[in-house]
Amino acid sequence: MSETLSYFRQDRLPHIWCPGCGHGTITGALVRAIDRLGLDKNKIMLVSGIGCSSRAVGYLDFDTLHTAHGRALAFATGLKVARPDLKVIVMTGDGDCTAIGGNHFIHAARRNIDITTIVMNNNIYGMTSGQYSPMTPKGMLATTAPYGNSERDFDLAELAKAAGATYVARGTSFHVPMLIELLEQALQNKGFSVVEALSQCPTYMGRKNKIGSAVDMLEWIKGRTVNAKAAAALPPEKVQGKLLIGELHKSSQPEYCDEYLKATAKVRRAWKNIDGGLRGCEQNSD
Ligand code: SF4
Ligand code: MG
Repeated sequence: MSETLSYFRQDRLPHIWCPGCGHGTITGALVRAIDRLGLDKNKIMLVSGIGCSSRAVGYLDFDTLHTAHGRALAFATGLKVARPDLKVIVMTGDGDCTAIGGNHFIHAARRNIDITTIVMNNNIYGMTSGQYSPMTPKGMLATTAPYGNSERDFDLAELAKAAGATYVARGTSFHVPMLIELLEQALQNKGFSVVEALSQCPTYMGRKNKIGSAVDMLEWIKGRTVNAKAAAALPPEKVQGKLLIGELHKSSQPEYCDEYLKATAKVRRAWKNIDGGLRGCEQNSD
């Protein structure tokens, strides 16, 4: 058995993803990043919302929470505050994270809570049959945009940075070695980390927009992106309209759980004394 296979719940396989879906590649990249860092899998908690991307946690052999639509970060926040010693990772999709979960996302970033969030962005709601999401590019077709999406899409990386995330990166299911490295960096950041991972959905995004097969979609993703390190040296016409990939932002800010523990130290000490006193009373009355 390969090393990384041991991170999967073999009894849950085969998975439900369509042939050629990018989500398996991204899940594999996460497992490889965890393996390379040598993290203790019993100290990792994976949390997901609802959607094709969120199915990933069902296949991974960690402690996992598969929660309600858009609420992965709300559950993950409670979990992290209760158990700051755990490495908490959220696996979510573009619809789950930026539509119904959008407010949880900006506030998790604002708090700089130590959670790594992987947003598998296939630019569409896959599981519910191809509706447009806040990350469907303008003009593209979806089940609910048969004449072309007339809304602008979010730049998730800019949103995360502006809201206060301390590590922000974008990778893709095409550039796998880079994605593994970005996930390694994100997992080591003490604070709110976001890795947007562009992914292909051949079944809805690809079919609706006549992009072609899964391989054609990978070429499409490749063509939409430019390496952030190379971008500065390129002429503007080569960068215009492209998505930058690589590490996009890194900063240092106090982490939420640390700040919360500091702020509540006095009251927690007082409660401990009261609790200890009460236990003493109970024992004396025996
Ligand atoms: Fe993947 Fe799209 Fe199929 Fe969902 S519908 S499993 S995102 S290819
Ligand atoms: Mg999606």
